[in-house]
Amino acid sequence: MTAGEATVETTTTEQRRAALEAIAAEVRVCSRCKLAQGRTNAVPGEGHPDTEVMFVGEGPGQTEDAQGRPFVGRAGELLVRLLASIGWRRQEVFITNIVKCRPPGNRDPEPDEIAACAPYLQRQLEVLDPAVVVTLGRFSMAHFRPGERITQIHGTHASAPPATGAREALAYALFHPAAALRSPEVERQSYDDIAGLPRVLTEARTRRGGLAAVVTATTDQAISPAVPTELLAGQIEPPELGDDAPTLF
Ligand code: URA
Ligand code: SF4
Repeated sequence: MTAGEATVETTTTEQRRAALEAIAAEVRVCSRCKLAQGRTNAVPGEGHPDTEVMFVGEGPGQTEDAQGRPFVGRAGELLVRLLASIGWRRQEVFITNIVKCRPPGNRDPEPDEIAACAPYLQRQLEVLDPAVVVTLGRFSMAHFRPGERITQIHGTHASAPPATGAREALAYALFHPAAALRSPEVERQSYDDIAGLPRVLTEARTRRGGLAAVVTATTDQAISPAVPTELLAGQIEPPELGDDAPTLF
């Protein structure tokens, strides 16, 4: 390196994978809060180490607790259908929860449990440095969009507080898929809301500067709600990533 050249900190896919696995290993044996007592398996989260998008739910349910994987029950099936509606697959994103162990009887996570578990989420965010954090439901929204109401802000984005570990991310609020399972109206709204996600990713990339040149050329269409997602998808070049990288567009 010559004098004056900027030092750019980079991590490789393998380094991120290893860092995520190190966090997961700690979570699996964690006893920092009382949820450790009732769990079958802790659920650290899973997904692609190169992804730009992280989904954060509330906490594992019964199926997740049994399998040690996030969103693998009925809510997870709906999440997969929602992702499919914009052409995304779950293995291209990262999926985790506010608390990594199942609250007994699926009760709400309590403030001391959320606080005890927060450092794991923070470290996952620091490793992945996502452009977009998608919040699923109230508890996740409260973390990334504090002081808001889900009925007011679903389908909208705002800067995620950097103190969460998300250095420069947009937080996009969705209803929890379990709420959508209980209400056809919330389900319909969830499809509408997730349809806005590719555009939010585009905007997040522009803000972060990575694809500024590419996106600038299509900004007018990109921010127009009238442009269907499919069209938008065809207009934007995907970033250069490795062979097994996510193909979000
Ligand atoms: N609900 C959640 O919030 N998270 C899961 O992992 C499954 C269901
Ligand atoms: Fe640890 Fe989080 Fe599980 Fe509590 S919920 S025991 S803090 S991993």
